[in-house]
Order: sequence, then C-alpha cells, then structure tokens
Amino acid sequence: MKKTEKIEKIYEGKAKIIYSTDDPDLLIQYFKDSATAFNAKKKGTIQNKGILNNKISSIIFKFLEERGIRTHFVERLDDREMLIKRLKIIPVEVVVRNIAAGSLSSRMGIEEGRPLKDTVLEFYYKSDKLGDPMINEYHIKAFDLSSPEDIKKITESALEINRHLVEFFDNRGIRLVDLKLEFGHRVYSDENNGEILLGDEITPDGSRLWDKETEKRLDKDRFRRDLGGVEEAYQEIYERVSRS
Ligand code: UDP
Repeated sequence: MKKTEKIEKIYEGKAKIIYSTDDPDLLIQYFKDSATAFNAKKKGTIQNKGILNNKISSIIFKFLEERGIRTHFVERLDDREMLIKRLKIIPVEVVVRNIAAGSLSSRMGIEEGRPLKDTVLEFYYKSDKLGDPMINEYHIKAFDLSSPEDIKKITESALEINRHLVEFFDNRGIRLVDLKLEFGHRVYSDENNGEILLGDEITPDGSRLWDKETEKRLDKDRFRRDLGGVEEAYQEIYERVSRS
C-alpha cells in the first residue's frame, strides 16, 4: 500500500498537531509532550506523553472499532503519529461520568470517588477563549452548535462507548471514573457532512483512570494536582491497555 505523505501543518492545539496529507480525506495527528491544565493557566511537559498517548489511543480506538463504534482512527504510523479520517469537529465536548470527581464533585459538593446512581452525561461548549463552559441541549439548539438529531446520535454513542470502556478498563484493573469525547462529521473532498465519527483521542489526558484496588490516580490529575509520578502513571496505563 502507498504510504500517506505528510504535507503541511493545518492546526496546532495544546497537545496535538494536525497535518494534511496527499490524500484529501486523511490527516495525520501528531502527539506532543506538552500538557496544560486549568484552561491552559498551568503549562508543562510530560516526558514521552506524546508517544504513550499515541499508543494508548490507537489501542483504544482499535478496540472500539472491533466493538462496532465508528471512529476517525485509520492506523498508527509511528511513535507519535496516527493516520485519521478528516472530520469537521462538532464544537460540543461530551463528558460521561461513572464516579464523582473533579468539577462534578465541586459543583455538587460530594467527595471524589462516590459512585453515581446512574451515568451522568454533560455537554461543554468547545471554546478555549471561554474556558469550555457547561451547556445543555437548549444552548446547543439555540446557538446552532449541532442539530437535535446529531445530539441524539452523539448521546447514544457516548453512552455505548462508555459501557465498552468501563468493561475494557475493568478487565485491566482500572476504574473508568469519567471521560471526555469529541465527535465530528466525516469530511470528504467531494462532499460535506458525512457520517458522525468519534474523533480526537482517548488517553489519560481526557479521562480519569484509577487503580481498582488502591484508587491511585493514573491520569492527568497527577499533573493538575502536582501528585508526582506523572510519566510513570501514563506508562502504567499503556502497559495495562496493551494486555489483550
Ligand atoms: N476534560 C477534558 N478536557 C477539558 C475538561 C475536562 O479532557 O477541557 C476531561 C477531564 O480529564 C476529566 C473529564 O473530562 O476526565 C471531566 O472533567 P471535569 O469536568 O471534572 O473537569 P476538571 O475537574 O478536569 O476541571
């Protein structure tokens, strides 16, 4: 098969760079070591995070594809690069929660680690400038961020992805506390608004992963909260998700 060639940088975010390729329908996603928290007010570097996140995300997207979830993932190219389908990202971040932590614990005044009676699903408006404010379906409709039909599809898909991943991580001794998902419409060179696929990444940057026995945090909270052993935690997650 012909190797897809990288052409030019089209977007640089806080943790990833996106490049166009000689195939107009495909992009390359490059994972950096930089880490940010608290709306980029805290900045740092986590050694090898890019390599570990590229590998972790590739394994998880492959697993989800095997479970029938449509994603942007095509293949991992090398240490830091992944080939993906071109998407137009819907500017709504979906957070799914199984256990209280982070902003939910603060908002509701409950301790972290409290299991929830039912899964919680939240929407945030994807805007760095505004610090990703929390929104609901009325805001999405009123500000035309997405259609009600698409939001219904995304909601169902997010809950299904969460069910698969709770099981996936549980089999590896990890509790999936919460995770953030992004979706987009496939963009083809000759047509717009293709089917909705899961995009972005699934890594310890955008999910909370706790050891099942000890409740040790194995995710970006170690960086946010200066808990130390950040790289080791990402490495531990990589080793556990590599288990078949
Ligand atoms: N999250 C993310 N990007 C954001 C905000 C949150 O990936 O801009 C993830 C975060 O890592 C966690 C989940 O979404 O796994 C829920 O985060 P929360 O709302 O508790 O926010 P936080 O406490 O991280 O500010």
